[in-house]
Amino acid sequence: MGRLVMKFGGTSVADIERIRNVARHVKREVAAGHEVAVVVSAMAGATNRLVEWCREASALHDAREYDTVVASGEQVTSGLLAIALQAAGVNARSWQGWQLPIKTSDAHGSARILDINGEELIKRFKERKEVAVVSGFQGIYPDTGRVTTLGRGGSDTSAVAVAAAIRAERCDIYTDVDGVYTTDPRVVPRARRLDKIAFEEMLEMASLGAKVMQVRSIELAMVHQVRVFVRSSFDKPEDIDPHTAPPGTLICDEAEIMEQQVVTGIAFSKDEAQISIRRVQDKPGVAASIFGPLAEANINVDMIVQNVSEDGRRTDLTFTVARSELSRALDAIEKAAPQIGYKEISADANVAKVSIIGIGMRAHPGVAQTMFRTLSDKGINIQVISTSEIKVSVLIAEEYVELAVRALHSAYELDTA
Ligand code: ASP
Ligand code: MG
Repeated sequence: MGRLVMKFGGTSVADIERIRNVARHVKREVAAGHEVAVVVSAMAGATNRLVEWCREASALHDAREYDTVVASGEQVTSGLLAIALQAAGVNARSWQGWQLPIKTSDAHGSARILDINGEELIKRFKERKEVAVVSGFQGIYPDTGRVTTLGRGGSDTSAVAVAAAIRAERCDIYTDVDGVYTTDPRVVPRARRLDKIAFEEMLEMASLGAKVMQVRSIELAMVHQVRVFVRSSFDKPEDIDPHTAPPGTLICDEAEIMEQQVVTGIAFSKDEAQISIRRVQDKPGVAASIFGPLAEANINVDMIVQNVSEDGRRTDLTFTVARSELSRALDAIEKAAPQIGYKEISADANVAKVSIIGIGMRAHPGVAQTMFRTLSDKGINIQVISTSEIKVSVLIAEEYVELAVRALHSAYELDTA
């Protein structure tokens, strides 16, 4: 039996009773002969409360002190889980980010993991059969010795990084859903749980709106080839046979996936807004004059279309930004109006993006056409299209999102029987 990382999110450690339940899950794997490192989040709601306290203390607070405060939620749960494990007869100790250490950049509040040395944990597995309980979400910036955090949802990233560092055979993410679905089951009741999904597909799904794991954790898993298994923490530990495959979704290299669908999943996001700038001077440098000020204001631009100009002198440009950034984006453009030289600007916050994703698309022509036909059959107008090797995204009116997702889910034969 090999080495495992088991990660538990906030709802799984929300109170002492649930922490005991987590301890039973861990004990099961240890009993089956696994070497185990556990990564925990803070209790559900705890981090929000800590963030709120920082804001209350001062609207403009020191980011280093913010990290000191918000990292504390995970310190509590790692200690409590170690206690619960010991009480259950399992040798265990907690590790804070600074103790391991989990070295990160100095970007307080959204630090990046640079290095974790897993050798000490491996030594303790061998010599003491000791379970490591690692606080997720936190690290240390070695140059200053200060506590850092990885950004909201960051304990997924901690888990994958620990798995890479100890060369785990798998990183199990225990969460409140029992896997990754073809699309959101609340929108499409006939959505199916996927047995496997390729890293690249999962990365697209997460970036495009599926909220199973932090996007960065999947990037990291892809780079280090860490196999990640998304499974439910609500299954009774005693009902699980560690020798048979439990329900869940394996996120893995595409080489491990035998049966490849053309489209694996459908993602959607309502956090979109569209900006159209009409009758811009059509000359070299115009795109730079628009997107430069947006980049300076730290605003991400997603989809872009530029129309052919009718008279060779003026053109229209349409693009999307996150809805929460719309007013800042409009501000930045209006300030740069003299340099851009446009006649008209309009914005629409009632748009949404729907995307089909699948590595099978690379080998199959006509996939996008099915999408366009399906939407047109439903009378849904496409406002912007963007594509990559493994996805096609369209921007449509927000009111049609559910209809579009359901129709596409059937069109690509993803519905359960
Ligand atoms: N506790 C942190 C948060 O709520 C990290 C995590 O749960 O992944 O964002
Ligand atoms: Mg989470």
